[in-house]
Amino acid sequence: MISVFTGNGKGKTTAALGQALRAVGEKKKVIMIQFIKGPFKSGEDESSKRLSPDFSLVKGGIGFVGILGDQHKIEEHQKAAEKTWQMCKDAISGGEHDIVIMDEINNAMDLKLIKKDEVKDFLKKHKKGADLILTGRNAPKWLIDTADLVTEMKDVKHPFNKNIKAKRGIEF
Ligand code: ATP
Ligand code: MG
Repeated sequence: MISVFTGNGKGKTTAALGQALRAVGEKKKVIMIQFIKGPFKSGEDESSKRLSPDFSLVKGGIGFVGILGDQHKIEEHQKAAEKTWQMCKDAISGGEHDIVIMDEINNAMDLKLIKKDEVKDFLKKHKKGADLILTGRNAPKWLIDTADLVTEMKDVKHPFNKNIKAKRGIEF
């Protein structure tokens, strides 16, 4: 099964983490591989260790792309994203995981850090094995068409718009 969490509202990554939490309780092995997200620490970096080895979290990115003081060249982001995509393919083909979560992969495709068509061809060939979860804004149309489950988080209200800063333990 291929699931997609997309849209502009909050909850895409946390929904994927929720699925991981549920699946681990059913003795499933889950890996979350994160695009773009890098050195910056999130609560889940710590809590995932408590669910190890059933759940593992791997960060393949080097941080925000083109925003919030990003000092990296786009080529550096692309290189990191290509490596991250390779990790995803290895995890999917490896057969060790029941669920492979590709967090922020939609953004990585949207920002052209990885080739959309490559992801498309790979996913179209994926017929059995791990369940896949793809998160991030701007999921491409072919992915929405291919996926079995698509949920769009709708931004109804977010404290960011009242200039309330991101809160540790809530936002990250
Ligand atoms: P979360 O990780 O909380 O589930 P997300 O994965 O849906 O959020 P992303 O687009 O990956 O959202 O961005 C992550 C960060 O951006 C989080 O800190 C989140 O709270 C914040 N965010 C998400 N949606 C909005 C929004 N509509 N306005 C402002 N900030 C947002
Ligand atoms: Mg997210």
